[in-house]
Amino acid sequence: MPIFEFRCLQCGQIFEKLFLKPDEKADIQCPQCNSPSFERVISRTNYVMGAGKNKKPKLTTRSCAPGSSCLTLDIPGPD
Ligand SMILES: [Zn+2]
Repeated sequence: MPIFEFRCLQCGQIFEKLFLKPDEKADIQCPQCNSPSFERVISRTNYVMGAGKNKKPKLTTRSCAPGSSCLTLDIPGPD
């Protein structure tokens, strides 16, 4: 199961999100301050896994929270 780690841009809280369904991506928010503003934390393990590849395809995730602006994330993909 894909588990992504994020850092809140509002308070700096690090939190993990387990994606069971694709549409859960729209529900990401900080567990501490409920801010929908966050960035993906790239772990050292992910860098090692992609080190042997020439190109780095990206997966774009768009998160829209009610009452606030949309957020677009570029998440490095495995291939
Ligand atoms: Zn926060």
